Amino acid sequence: MTPVRRQYLSIKRQYPEIIVFFRMGDFYETFDNDAEIVASVLGITLTSREMGRGNRVPMAGIPYHAAEGYLARLLAAGHKVAIAEQTEKPNGKDLVDRRVTSVVTPGTVTDPAFVRGAGNTYVVALVGESSSAGIAYADVTTGEFGTTRLTAETDAGLAEVVRRELLRLNPAEIVTRDEEPLLAFLAEDTARSTVPNTAWRFDDACEGLKDHFGVSSLEPFGCEGEPLAVRAAGALLTYLQSTQFNSLRQITTLVTYSTARFMSLDAQTRRNLELIESTSRGGGPTLYSTLDETRTPLGARLLRQWIGQPLLDREEIEQRYEGVSWFVAEPLIRARVRDALRGISDIERVINRVVNLQAGPRETASLGASLARIPGLVTLLDTGDQPRLIGNIPLADRAASEIAQAIADDPPALLSHGGVIRDGYSAELDGLRRTLARDREYIMNLEATERDRTGIKSLKVGFNKVFGYYIEISNANREPIPDNFIRKQTLVNAERYITPDLKEAEQRVQAAEDRITAAESDAYGRLLAVVAAEHDTIRDAARAIATFDVLAGLAEIAATRGYVRPELTDDDVLRIEAGRHPIVERQLERGAFVPNDTILSDNDGRIAILTGPNMAGKSTYLRQVALIVLLAQVGSFVPAERARLGIVDRIFTRIGAQDDLASGQSTFMVEMLETAAILNHASPRSLVVLDEIGRGTSTYDGLAIATAIVEYLHNTPRLNPKTLFATHYHELTALADILPRLRNYRLDVLEAGESVTFLHRVVPGGADRSYGVYVAQLAGMPRQVVRRAGEVLSELERDNNSVGQRESRTAAVTHQPTSPVQLTLFGAPHPAVERLKALEVDSLSPLDALTELYELRKLTVE
Ligand code: ATP
Repeated sequence: MTPVRRQYLSIKRQYPEIIVFFRMGDFYETFDNDAEIVASVLGITLTSREMGRGNRVPMAGIPYHAAEGYLARLLAAGHKVAIAEQTEKPNGKDLVDRRVTSVVTPGTVTDPAFVRGAGNTYVVALVGESSSAGIAYADVTTGEFGTTRLTAETDAGLAEVVRRELLRLNPAEIVTRDEEPLLAFLAEDTARSTVPNTAWRFDDACEGLKDHFGVSSLEPFGCEGEPLAVRAAGALLTYLQSTQFNSLRQITTLVTYSTARFMSLDAQTRRNLELIESTSRGGGPTLYSTLDETRTPLGARLLRQWIGQPLLDREEIEQRYEGVSWFVAEPLIRARVRDALRGISDIERVINRVVNLQAGPRETASLGASLARIPGLVTLLDTGDQPRLIGNIPLADRAASEIAQAIADDPPALLSHGGVIRDGYSAELDGLRRTLARDREYIMNLEATERDRTGIKSLKVGFNKVFGYYIEISNANREPIPDNFIRKQTLVNAERYITPDLKEAEQRVQAAEDRITAAESDAYGRLLAVVAAEHDTIRDAARAIATFDVLAGLAEIAATRGYVRPELTDDDVLRIEAGRHPIVERQLERGAFVPNDTILSDNDGRIAILTGPNMAGKSTYLRQVALIVLLAQVGSFVPAERARLGIVDRIFTRIGAQDDLASGQSTFMVEMLETAAILNHASPRSLVVLDEIGRGTSTYDGLAIATAIVEYLHNTPRLNPKTLFATHYHELTALADILPRLRNYRLDVLEAGESVTFLHRVVPGGADRSYGVYVAQLAGMPRQVVRRAGEVLSELERDNNSVGQRESRTAAVTHQPTSPVQLTLFGAPHPAVERLKALEVDSLSPLDALTELYELRKLTVE
């Protein structure tokens, strides 16, 4: 085995689960299994290399100057990379020292080149016990660090609760112990990492956290009594320490949070409502993109968080309304503030890079420019009557002025490029720069002085990398060469010389350049230290700015698009007047969207059955109601004339048909699974939106299932959620006669002869036709097909409308299921129930009880 192979293996042993990029000259090489992964993910050639006699190993390499792009692709594919650099210059003889200088993982990258988009990049640690789990998250780019304990809830097992929380956090990477059964549901390509089991021990976790924060107790973080939360946070910290070679100074505090603050939204609902990501190929508009009127990356990130986690606490929501309301009422301040926000960069991420000494001169300059805008903002906002969420931006004056004094205009991206520090900031640097200028000038003037002295007209002073400065004289000039000229190089037409003076000046220039580089680096380091000292203030400022950026953006939308402040109530009602779909509205011409009302309450019906033709706007209406409720709890105003809303604990949606081909489930199976999940988890405080349930199967199966679901939602006291149910089965409208809290609505159409106009208006009552044939015609189906479909439809309708048919159909729909719950709700109680009530349970012997049970069962079967 060659020495370099031995060196490689010793490094690889420390990173068995991570791809090692092993620097060899101009390449990062990967070997063995790593090489195979890299070659297949990046589509590069897999070669091999002899690394000892008879020891050929697979190898794949990428040029180091193009590493960024390749790294990004590996990260996107969920891989992690440890970069082993050459830490000394090769001398051609000895083995070069190599060491891992950084570990890049999807959840812990801080380099702006790889950080995932506008949102947060979370790495999450999870540890599960029998009925609880600890979950901690961190964003190393912003310094957020939070932890909590999750427990099974009445409506969901622990795995489901964990799943919901992971959906909310949407982590880029998950850290666990060797095995974590709670995560069996995770997709294969999710980036997973492990830390040794010892890191998860309570004592070690506690010590690790205390050590990092320099505290003697975890009490201030609120997790002292939460061992699982402590263990998750401790293990996460251990993991971060292993990947962040610079210390984790940006992580200055730990927040113990509670998931009870947020509305939980399952994956299908996030998808169906297109909150952050669009479901259309190529990416259409989303709720986030429609609402994003923020001006800073800080605001954009916070808005994503808000949309992804609507609140449950009325007080907290009202505070956001107050903020929006104030900005709506102050259009002038709003405009000025939004203008002033424009130049503010992602100071939250930059300050963390400053703290870890990673920030380049341009980033630091942008931080300074951003901080310099804060006093102006404070003056704008401080009107004396601004609400709590606005105002109170702490000033980081010292950092701002220090950066302004220190960094030159238009600095280069890298410190090593020089010219970063402004004249006047460091006396040492100024002195060195003066010396350098003098020596450079001497050399520049040398051409003229030597020409005068020697009388050689063609004498030139030049510079190359091999010889440094030289004096060149062309062969055409035969004048005698002065004594102090020393010949260095002969060219075809010229000779090159040096002189002792020239070499001395050159050495002085070089020395000054080196010292300037060092002095700049010193001065820059001192600057970063001054700025870092204010990191807490800067982070607080970043949060304050993000908050009012979001509030001002929401106010801008409210004011320009006619959104109103919802009236939140403790009553269990949902009443929207002239509501609109926030996204669809934007895609139509102004004023083209037809607003609609919604009323769901005990008195006005909790279940709305919505029928109407295809394309009339049923799906739009359903989503619109869900989005308005969600927006209201995000703290935004809503697209409506008026909205009175009781706080909703969850929004469930089952919309559209998607085959889950990856897991081998049919459209219908997916539909049933998702609906089953809703029936198992909804509560009377939930909003349930169901679109076309039962369509993926035969008409009768579908109708039967749809009927049973509506009855179950209506009649099960544990459920009884506010529900919108859009369907093609007109037969379902018959349910309104027997279920008291159910109402029928339809989408209105205007029929004039052959033509049909969709009015997009929701009105009371059920529809009796689908107009499917009409839509087929609109879609440009061949006339023959449309005509024939019309004929078949008339025949079917004639047959179906015969008296006997209709009666049996209504009977099928209105048939009363025999479960006790429904029986007590409608009509006389069942004899079995009567008998059960009359039982004297306390005086029954076990045998009597058994006999009684048999009797009861007989009664239910009869
Ligand atoms: P299908 O039953 O075929 O799924 P649908 O009844 O659910 O159809 P939608 O997809 O909701 O119909 O709406 C069809 C189109 O009608 C939308 O793309 C939109 O352009 C328009 N539309 C829907 N609602 C409205 C409205 N309230 N005002 C104006 N246009 C609307």
